[in-house]
Amino acid sequence: METTLAQLSITEAAKKLKAKEITSLDLARACLIEIQKRNTSLNAYLEVFADAEAQAKAADARRAQDEKEKKESHPLLGIPLAIKDNILIEGRIASAASKMLEHYVASYDATVIKKLKAAGVVFLGRTNMDEFAMGGSTENSAFGPTRNPLDEGRVPGGSSGGSAAAVAGHLALGALGTDTGGSIREPASFCGLVGLKPTYGAVSRFGAIAMGSSLDQIGPLTKSVEDAEIIFNTLRGIDPLDSTTIGEGEYAARPRRKRVGVPRHLLKEGVDADVLAQFDLVLTKLQTQGYELVDVELPSAGLALAVYYIIMPAESSTNLARYDSIRYGLSLKGKDLTEDYAKSRAAGFGPEVRRRIILGTYVLSAGYYDAYYGKAGLARQKLTDEVTRALETVDAIVVPTAPCPATKIGEKSDPLSMYLMDIFTVTANLTGNPALSVPMGTVTREGKTLPVGIQLTAAHGDEAALFELGKKIQNLG
Ligand code: GLN
Repeated sequence: METTLAQLSITEAAKKLKAKEITSLDLARACLIEIQKRNTSLNAYLEVFADAEAQAKAADARRAQDEKEKKESHPLLGIPLAIKDNILIEGRIASAASKMLEHYVASYDATVIKKLKAAGVVFLGRTNMDEFAMGGSTENSAFGPTRNPLDEGRVPGGSSGGSAAAVAGHLALGALGTDTGGSIREPASFCGLVGLKPTYGAVSRFGAIAMGSSLDQIGPLTKSVEDAEIIFNTLRGIDPLDSTTIGEGEYAARPRRKRVGVPRHLLKEGVDADVLAQFDLVLTKLQTQGYELVDVELPSAGLALAVYYIIMPAESSTNLARYDSIRYGLSLKGKDLTEDYAKSRAAGFGPEVRRRIILGTYVLSAGYYDAYYGKAGLARQKLTDEVTRALETVDAIVVPTAPCPATKIGEKSDPLSMYLMDIFTVTANLTGNPALSVPMGTVTREGKTLPVGIQLTAAHGDEAALFELGKKIQNLG
């Protein structure tokens, strides 16, 4: 394949823009050409914005103005990005890939969008996802699955699969996703990208369509760790519109120890042998770079998946109660109000969303609250304490991001087998720690070379540790 500007990383493109070797319009056009070629089969974008070129022209004009005023331009000025369909952009549809919100037009910008607009980002379009971010493959979209650009017979991961496919297929230079239980990191792993789930509260959730409010974070999907860092630094910070946000000084700076924690006890079964072999290879290389490997114990980590699949549906069912067919979203008429609800919600929500609403409503019901939700909360706290303790002596805890490479479309039709894919990612959402997935090599399936990722988890507020170690791993070769 001939190389195009669409293949550049954000960092490389920013350098070329600064040197005036290219314009933002060149970049946007290069992405639009790839979109033209591949989006029909990939289904990465649900909508490509008609004004993308106009936005790029405005960015070029702004750069010229910055230059006139001798002002340093933002590194994201004129960079074309893709936005997951559950992040509100004023005046544009945000459907969360659901029939419920198919025609919903956002009346305001999410805080992250405001920040990206201030930086001068070009928005190429909104990307496909599992409906309401529920899933790990982007097969649960009401608008058809997204395909993995590295092997179109396979899934890109999910739920931010459209964003991952857009970046991996060079249909965008970078993208935003959301991560409630791994939805940025798992698609990053399946598509050979870098994906960051920030510390809970580091990035405002205002204007992100809520799934599990105590778990959700917005973050970047990019081609390099440097790119993820640029986007994260642009998005982060206190937002008066999200009371859970934290400032940069919230957590004390930590010393680097060049020690990496490996919870070996979690890797005894369930991980594909060749994925584990890649993981061990990276660890061996890190050792030759002077890193010490430390065995860490997370005794409650085995409970993480069960805890997540109680807390997440509980919060999701609560958040989804707002789709009552009256305030916004799909509205079908029955003979009375109850029937309006039932009709609209039955037609608007897909099977996975309905499954989680039922599960969530059940675990929150008066008779079962203590047995399920209450207990899950206790286990969550225990797990948080264990992770915090383990991170006192190491820079990061590492595991494979997912137990396997990208699966085939249709392969995980049983929901429980799909949930198992989240085994390593849900912990960071439950504990609030930041976690980064970085490519760690490839494995082969049916003659195809497929990427796999390594996940690094750091102490609260210590994204810097992730970027530092992530760059080390990225450059191991
Ligand atoms: N795969 C997980 C789930 O289905 C994670 C989803 C997410 O992070 N949004 O819940």
